[in-house]
Amino acid sequence: MVKIIKTPDEQPNDAIERDLVTALYDDSFGGVLVSIACASALFLIFGDDPVLGEFKLYWFIAFMLLLTIRLLDTSYWHKNLRGTSYAFLQAKRRFISMAALSSFAWTTYAITIVDHASWLELSMTIIILASLAGGSATVLSGNRTLGVCYSFLLIFPMSFLMAIGEDPNKNVLGYLGLFFSLIMILGSWRTAAFTRNAIVTKNQNTDFVKALADKNEEILAVNADLENKVRLRTKEIFELSNIDPLTGLFNRTAFSKSLGDIISLCQSQARGFALLFIDLDGFKAINDTQGHNVGDKVLVAIAQRITLFANGAGHVCRWGGDEFIVVIEDLDEGEAVEFGRDLIASLSQHIKVDSNKLSVGATIGVAMYPRHGSDETELISLADTAMYIQKEKNKADVSVFTHEMRQSQIREQQIKEGLALALQKNEFHLVYQPVIDNESKEVSFCEVLLRWRYRGEMVPPHEFIPIAEQYGFIHDIGEWVLMEACRESSSWIFDDHVNISVNVSVSQLVRADFIAIVQNALVSSGFSASNLHLEITESMFESNVDMMLERIRALQGLGIKVSVDDFGTGFSSLSQLQKLSADIVKIDRSFISSMATGGQAIIQATQYIAKELGYSVVAEGVETKAQADELADIGIQCSQGYYFSYPMPIAELTDWYQKFKKS
Ligand code: C2E
Ligand code: MG
Ligand code: MG
Repeated sequence: MVKIIKTPDEQPNDAIERDLVTALYDDSFGGVLVSIACASALFLIFGDDPVLGEFKLYWFIAFMLLLTIRLLDTSYWHKNLRGTSYAFLQAKRRFISMAALSSFAWTTYAITIVDHASWLELSMTIIILASLAGGSATVLSGNRTLGVCYSFLLIFPMSFLMAIGEDPNKNVLGYLGLFFSLIMILGSWRTAAFTRNAIVTKNQNTDFVKALADKNEEILAVNADLENKVRLRTKEIFELSNIDPLTGLFNRTAFSKSLGDIISLCQSQARGFALLFIDLDGFKAINDTQGHNVGDKVLVAIAQRITLFANGAGHVCRWGGDEFIVVIEDLDEGEAVEFGRDLIASLSQHIKVDSNKLSVGATIGVAMYPRHGSDETELISLADTAMYIQKEKNKADVSVFTHEMRQSQIREQQIKEGLALALQKNEFHLVYQPVIDNESKEVSFCEVLLRWRYRGEMVPPHEFIPIAEQYGFIHDIGEWVLMEACRESSSWIFDDHVNISVNVSVSQLVRADFIAIVQNALVSSGFSASNLHLEITESMFESNVDMMLERIRALQGLGIKVSVDDFGTGFSSLSQLQKLSADIVKIDRSFISSMATGGQAIIQATQYIAKELGYSVVAEGVETKAQADELADIGIQCSQGYYFSYPMPIAELTDWYQKFKKS
């Protein structure tokens, strides 16, 4: 068997090896049939040989047997292995072994007859073998070693023997054969190399096409992944810009757009809807006392309740902080109010956060489409107004927008605009209302009250002060009041013991610079701190009480007296009053006017507590002699009211005082 020698460049991948074996088998039928034809021709012409006849017969039979096996092997290959990923090594070994045996058969034949054959037989044999060698260069090009060896074995041994023989004619034929053998070896070598290159190139192309297909698949996969990522990112961006991250509800932007769509739809179908603007009550306190983490959990729970309550029928949005909006289609006004009240009841139930049970309330304003407006911004603003007005009036209830509300909103807007310029335009002035000591019948102090003339109209403080507080104007206005009161009363007709009492809003008091502002007013006017009272409404107890205490102590440290104004209207507890250690308690005028119907008991109780805690008590809103006498009888230290005097400009105080002293 021919040993197959492989050089490193002949060890490529299996596909190339298999293709080379395929090249061998593909041409095998033709090669074997040519061999059969040649061997048969030689046997028929020269088989009848007296010397070598027997050898030729056996050789012919053996060779035919070998060639038949090769034919069977070739047809087996064609039938079963061609085009499959067959075990090429076995097929290759079979083919090479049998082809090698064929070449040995020819060599044996040639070298056996060389000495005995006639000139004609030799010539014919060498021509046939040379042709076979020539054909083998192509037919066996699938294996270079086999191709080269085959050509070599077919011609070389016979030619060599002829070349070294004694017959000069045979010598010439031998040389020719040797030369031919050399050419055939080179031809086989080159044809095999060419075939191999072609197969390698074909396989590289296949690899390249496969690599291309793989790359293509890879690109498709990357593309699909990219598309997925883009889809996810788009969803994320949509959620970021449309969904409130805390509650998962629509945010302002998304809701305004969606409301626009709802309006268009309802318009085309001639339907209506109710827009409910929900504002939580008491949420700020939870945030302040329990922290933002707990506040967030409360908001999430509220959002879930609203969504559940709307039961998929409504469009829900977190409008901001603790404000939510629900839109419910096909509700009339009465149904909307009922829905709102039920919703408030649901929202007001306990919310369990960790181990705490918390509760918030809600106030709701309603605007109806199309009755109140047909534009999303307008409807939201109207419902917000209704909510805001309801909240001022009475929390935890529902209010439907009315046109009076619009008027009051317009009025508020005008006041707000007016307040912004009022100081600059010198529109404020102060009036003074004396407070009388019930025992000595002397003026104890005068309360300073602010007056505003705006566009020729006197706007009452109860109307403009809350707006000034809400929009922050109160700080500059309050500072002006303090300065002006100290300045005006520095040179007034009263003795030193008559003090002035200036009203201060809670929002002024909580500002860090408040004490400095008071000091500045005192220093710049030369007014004595011991002649100054500051009145702070009872609502201060709704703020941070510890901070209030600290401020009040600081003021008292300067020598200023502090009054709790409108006492009885708020929710201050007696313990808070005790903690506060103010100097004066002013009983709200509602108790004085209702003295005959139960107010007296409250006045007496307040007087009793104040006495125990060491406060002075002032009764506000004393309008009649009877009230004044009764209050004096109860033991109330001071009284203030229209019975003694209306608030008046400082210039009128002198006249009033002259008359008062005479009376
Ligand atoms: P207040 O501090 O309780 O002032 C007493 C209010 O009762 C004054 O109303 C006064 O005119 C009124 N009044 C006095 N005696 C009687 C009476 O016998 N009967 C009736 N019905 N009313 C009487 P005014 O001046 O309209 O002030 C209302 C509120 O506005 C004040 O209530 C005070 O809370 C606030 N305010 C007034 N001026 C200022 C100020 O300069 N700064 C701040 N922050 N608030 C002020
Ligand atoms: Mg007051
Ligand atoms: Mg008062």
